[in-house]
Amino acid sequence: MKGLRVIHTAEEIRERIAALADEIRPLYAEKNPLLLGVLKGSFVFLADLARALAIPLEVDFVQLGSYGDDTESSGFVRFDHDVERPLQGRHVLIVEDIVDTGHTLRFLMGTLSSRDAASVRVVSLLDKPSRRLFPVGVDFVGFTVPDLFVVGYGMDHAQAYRHLPDVCVVEEA
Ligand code: 5GP
Ligand code: MG
Repeated sequence: MKGLRVIHTAEEIRERIAALADEIRPLYAEKNPLLLGVLKGSFVFLADLARALAIPLEVDFVQLGSYGDDTESSGFVRFDHDVERPLQGRHVLIVEDIVDTGHTLRFLMGTLSSRDAASVRVVSLLDKPSRRLFPVGVDFVGFTVPDLFVVGYGMDHAQAYRHLPDVCVVEEA
């Protein structure tokens, strides 16, 4: 039997996002930034962050995959869906659910580097620095988490649990 243990409550997440938004907002006032969500895991975070920022902005998504239905990264990144509009001259804020080995972000930054964006920064709700294999720069982090597989608040295990309002760890009960 699997059980869920809450590690960050919905209320804690809401407060942390408000603080992150206060930090991020001054950098993008009048810049009409592009919030670039990495599907699927970031969809809940992006929705809350966009509203907390409360400045004019645009939203787009890329879909990348490095996980199958397993909890271990395959180390292989697939590009499944690209942005709809050119990034040239845009202030891009990549929105991630969690940075783990850094494979995904390294691949995405590499892909974006040829597209002439005016700036590229990264915000991730969660960071698991103990697992890092590639030294990727994450400009804003919500919470640092230990080496545990987390679900909820957009994040899945085999596509389940994305709807949970809290960030949880799946445990053998
Ligand atoms: P990385 O490429 O940095 O190893 O992993 C990045 C992606 O793997 C994240 O954006 C996320 O989608 C997924 N991932 C990494 N760790 C976890 C985790 O603990 N739980 C879930 N649900 N996904 C994770
Ligand atoms: Mg992700």
